This record gives sequence, C-alpha cells and structure tokens, in this order.
Amino acid sequence: MSATQKVLLVTGGSRGIGAATCRLGAKAGYSVAVNYVSNQAAADAVVDEIKAGGGQAFAVRGDVGVEADILAMFGAVDRVFGRLDAFVNNAGIVDVKSRVDEMDVARLERMMRVNVTGSFLCAREAVKRMSTRHGGKGGAIVNLSSAAARLGAPGEYVDYAASKGAIDTLTIGLAREVVSEGIRVNAVSPGITETEIHASGGQPDRVERMRDLLPMKRAGTSEEVASAVLYLLSDAASYITGAILNVSGGR
Ligand code: NAP
Repeated sequence: MSATQKVLLVTGGSRGIGAATCRLGAKAGYSVAVNYVSNQAAADAVVDEIKAGGGQAFAVRGDVGVEADILAMFGAVDRVFGRLDAFVNNAGIVDVKSRVDEMDVARLERMMRVNVTGSFLCAREAVKRMSTRHGGKGGAIVNLSSAAARLGAPGEYVDYAASKGAIDTLTIGLAREVVSEGIRVNAVSPGITETEIHASGGQPDRVERMRDLLPMKRAGTSEEVASAVLYLLSDAASYITGAILNVSGGR
C-alpha cells in the first residue's frame, strides 16, 4: 500500500493525545503510521477506526527508548508507505510522585532515555527522510512538550519537567538547524490533559484533584491538544517554526 497522499508517523499513537492525533490526521487526509510499545489492541483499534473511515493506517510496535526499535519503526514506514511528510514526537512517560532527593539513577536514566534521547533519535530519523539536504521533499515535525517545563512539577516529577525542558530546546535548536532544508519544527505544550498518563504515574485521580486549580476549571482533552498539533503540521502554519504553543487552558 504505497501512499499517494501525505504520510504521518505518530509515536505513542495508540492512546491519549497520540491516538487523537492519528484520528485527526487521518481526517485531514494523511496516511497514518500508529506507533505503540505494548498495547497492540489499542493501536489496532485506532487503525481499524481510521480504515473504517476510509483512510489508510497501520500499527508499528517500537520502544522509543531503544535505538534499534526506532530504526525498525522508520524502516517500516519506508516500506509500507514509501514517504514521510509529518512526524509527531509524542511518546512520553511520567513516573511516580517523588522529590528530587529521592530519585535514583535508574529512574532518571529511564526518564531521559525515553523522553529525551528517544525524541532526539526519532527527530534524527525524520530529518534524514525529510531534509532537502538528504534528497527529501521537506516536511513538518511537532514535539510534545509540557507545561511542566515552565512550572517545574515540584514534589511530583521534576525529572519529567526537565525532560520536557529539553524538548523545548530541541524544538528551538532543530527548527533553526533545518529551517533552510524544507522542514518546520514546532512544539505543543499541553497543560493537564485527560489521558491515562496520570494513572501510569500512580495518580489516577490527578485530573479530578487539580480541576479547581485550573483557570478553566477543567482539564484539556486529547482532541484539543491534537488539533493544535495538526494545525502546526499543516500549511496554515507555513511561516511558523521554532514555536512552542501552550495548549493549557490559561495555565
Ligand atoms: P498516555 O495516555 O500515557 O499514552 C502514552 C502513549 O505513548 C501510548 O500510546 C504508549 O503506548 C506510548 N508509549 C509510552 N512509552 C513508549 C515508548 N517507550 N515507546 C513508544 N511508545 C511509548 O500519554 P498522553 O497523556 O497521551 O501523553 C502524550 C504526550 O503528551 C507525552 O509526551 C506527554 O508527556 C505529553 N503531555 C501529556 C500531558 C497530560 O496531561 N496528559 C500533559 C503535558 C504533556 P502503549 O499504548 O503501547 O502503552
């Protein structure tokens, strides 16, 4: 199934913000590669929904914390669709609530390997395929940052916040590095968004607990974040690169 339409790859496309990005991407006309790490059923459900709507999609397993998996994932997109126009560095993890003076090396290394090194290596593979310097036709990259990069997440996960600070800097630096090679690089920085990430960090009630502290008295939805991602990928954002767009309901 070689794609005649534009191709979008989303890491962590099986659930949450990534899944919403895959669905909206398909509606916008992209053929979509849906990456997941362990929840194949969730990835297959996203693929099935896109196909049921008349779109093209396939699921590809790969841990962004493992370089060989990243190479295999991009290789699968090359084989199945034969092109890459849009890439979303969405896969990311939190950890259980902890103070900095309680964090061990294993935790810090996992956080940085998945959220930072994984995002760098994926961006590298996307640039190799999109850059006119490498014979590509250009493209757009959107990285998922977080309001935590500005707020620091004290007493919760400063390591996660710092990993998203690195994503902001990756966005600014890479945008300037490839601006003359046909690639735009931007970030979306969500505030608290209703997904399963909070439960994965041992705080299933986090959205409910924080609700009254949020300016809009509610968390964001995956779709609200995904629509900002799709905007930055689109030609409507043709003069925007190196931007970090807060999608955080005023927080
Ligand atoms: P989520 O609901 O926990 O979903 C995480 C997704 O990432 C899943 O598809 C998961 O795959 C995948 N994933 C996790 N580790 C992976 C790995 N090592 N390799 C490949 N895929 C991996 O997360 P989310 O809330 O949608 O968050 C998406 C992004 O937005 C993250 O970068 C997060 O930091 C950022 N963000 C979220 C919020 C929020 O409040 N939700 C706020 C700010 C920023 P499986 O389904 O296979 O497990």
